[in-house]
Amino acid sequence: MNAFVIRAAQVFDGERAHHDLPVLVRDGMIERVGGPVPDLPVVGSPGTLLPGLIDMHTHLCGDGGSGALDRLAGYTEDELDDVIERALRVQLAAGVTSVRDLGDRRYATLRWRGRRALPTIVAAGPPITSRGGHCWNMGGEASGADELRAAVAERAERGVDVVKVMASGGGMTPGTDILACQFTLAELRLVVEEAHAAGLPVTAHAHGTPSVEQAVAVGVDGIEHCSCLTPEGIRMSDELAAAIAARGITVCPTLGAIGEMTPPPALKEFLERTGSTIRDRIGQVVRMAEAGVRIVSGGDSGISPGKPHGMLATSVEWLVDGGIPAEAALASATSLAAEVAGLARKGRIRPGFDADLLLVDGDPLRDITTLARPAGVWLAGARVR
Ligand SMILES: [Zn+2]
Repeated sequence: MNAFVIRAAQVFDGERAHHDLPVLVRDGMIERVGGPVPDLPVVGSPGTLLPGLIDMHTHLCGDGGSGALDRLAGYTEDELDDVIERALRVQLAAGVTSVRDLGDRRYATLRWRGRRALPTIVAAGPPITSRGGHCWNMGGEASGADELRAAVAERAERGVDVVKVMASGGGMTPGTDILACQFTLAELRLVVEEAHAAGLPVTAHAHGTPSVEQAVAVGVDGIEHCSCLTPEGIRMSDELAAAIAARGITVCPTLGAIGEMTPPPALKEFLERTGSTIRDRIGQVVRMAEAGVRIVSGGDSGISPGKPHGMLATSVEWLVDGGIPAEAALASATSLAAEVAGLARKGRIRPGFDADLLLVDGDPLRDITTLARPAGVWLAGARVR
């Protein structure tokens, strides 16, 4: 039996902060929150205890180097496993105890689910994309109704947790158009209907405003990026934001980066041509949040040197920089993220929940940058060294 108490100056329970709230951990679970401190080993800290973070948009097959996604198609299965294991360990060291992988190669991440001492994985397998479309080299190309139907069926058979579909082109794949839709409305609707019939949620990668409108119209569960790009710049009407909110669609804006922000070529070209900035983009995300859209945090980690694994804290930081209250920003990577990912016992410090925990020095509610400096990480009650 393994039992101990964590007594931090502050506890963020996934929704709000508390003081003087000892957390009793027993056999990998949170047994009690608050109350008298039993006669057990105590981990004391002047900092803040939070639920372990959840990266809602990662690519474990991406090694975080330049050209990471271009290398995927050439990897052997052993090489894929090496990259995935390294990614998981780096994420864990940064306090990320669960991840949602939204694009791998040959379903490689699925075999890493349920491993001891590594983060919990929710996985999409290869995203469904058009021929030569965004991230085609992950292996998910499909065109026409029959192939799209077969693509969803294959994912259901493989046991994915979520279906990812590329509704627009992307910044990392040359030859695709970030402003344009990759599928017709009927095709995208078919993917959603087939996935829902198989009991799977769908999240759509969408940069261009028309692709966001398509995704909303066909009833996806989530939208990745949701950048609302047009030839004139970032354009999102109040009606569109309201429609995303009204349909209960979750948006993962994939903000955040380490060091100098170097957008991929297609996005860089877009920003320069339209005079748009990353600030405009953060402003658009904040407008969505103000319209009532549920925002979760994911880094798109692993795809490039600016977005290595373990950078999720910067996604949360950008939300706060944009004016989103720290509690809501932290919930986007804890309680709300868990709910959206279908992780029923994660994302909160509450009796009966898994003891996936992150201790940071300082107070992330006052200084969000402290989130990037873990002082302790526990996975199912076991301290990560
Ligand atoms: Zn991605």
